[in-house]
Amino acid sequence: MGDMRKDYLLERSVIVSTKDRKNTSSKKCPFCPGNESMTNPSMLALVAKDGMLQRLQDSDDFFVKGWCVRVFESKNPAVSISPENSYSDLPLYSEPAYGYHYIVVASSKHAETFATLDVEQWGNTLVVIQDRLRWLYTQKGVTYISIFINHGKNAGAVIDHPHVNMISFSNIPPVIEAEAEASYRILNEKGVCPMCQTINAEMGGPRQVLQTEGFVAFCPWAPSHPFEFWISPKKHATVFSKISQKEINDLSLILRSTLGGLSKHIKDLSYNLVFHLSPEKKNSRQIHWHIEIYPLTNSWSGLERGYGIFLNDSSPEKDAEILGAACRKELANLVGIE
Ligand SMILES: [Zn+2]
Ligand SMILES: [Zn+2]
Repeated sequence: MGDMRKDYLLERSVIVSTKDRKNTSSKKCPFCPGNESMTNPSMLALVAKDGMLQRLQDSDDFFVKGWCVRVFESKNPAVSISPENSYSDLPLYSEPAYGYHYIVVASSKHAETFATLDVEQWGNTLVVIQDRLRWLYTQKGVTYISIFINHGKNAGAVIDHPHVNMISFSNIPPVIEAEAEASYRILNEKGVCPMCQTINAEMGGPRQVLQTEGFVAFCPWAPSHPFEFWISPKKHATVFSKISQKEINDLSLILRSTLGGLSKHIKDLSYNLVFHLSPEKKNSRQIHWHIEIYPLTNSWSGLERGYGIFLNDSSPEKDAEILGAACRKELANLVGIE
């Protein structure tokens, strides 16, 4: 399967994986109800019955029907747990791309998106993500779990049907490592969590997009993409896998409202949504967890790719004003309906 290679000098990882892409030519959507046999068997399928959620799972000869969320191992995984021996040293550093790749299908309806999903269904999806997260951290060789959504043709989405990717790694990804390292340094020097400080500075300010009871959405001071925004718990929190059902409902509301507002404002929207969570192994450094959303409205230039400096043609203050109005409208509609 794949190799995880490192840059000659920098903390930059590349998975080199040259396997055949299966299923891509098929007209049938493998994530739609009725096509369950096109995917691996689900380890968890939520079925709503009599106002309760049943937790079921597929077996070799039986596929759960009537599910609202379903999770299974990807048929085109970026990482694998099959034994490989691809270790080598710098400058040509390589190790096996070891891990698990799960797909969480967030709705039985193909045409649904994360911006149209109802709040309860968003909550069901987050419950399944939490369940997988807890299980994955009990597995050996799992040091970190990335959770992300690709939506739209510019975002790397292969299948349109709304789904979440969960990929585990045996090392902490460079971006998380850098965030955790910087957080730790600031915490040590100043005795305060930098994200708590950020939230203090941004809450109610010109870059705030939306607030719910426990969460705030804001355009960051130095966004790498137009209309980029982050969603963070207002209170210091480092462990996502332990948040309560009440917090999940609140998070679902702000996710649905902000993505709804964003997609109303930008037509034919593509975006990536990523969870920045703490590694949940003992002794690892912690971050105040949050979610980052990068709308992909234009492609990068040589400045971004070649130098890591972002040229942004809209200001986060202006973006937050526009997004805020659109998202407040969504929130009002959602709360009104409920
Ligand atoms: Zn589908
Ligand atoms: Zn904090």
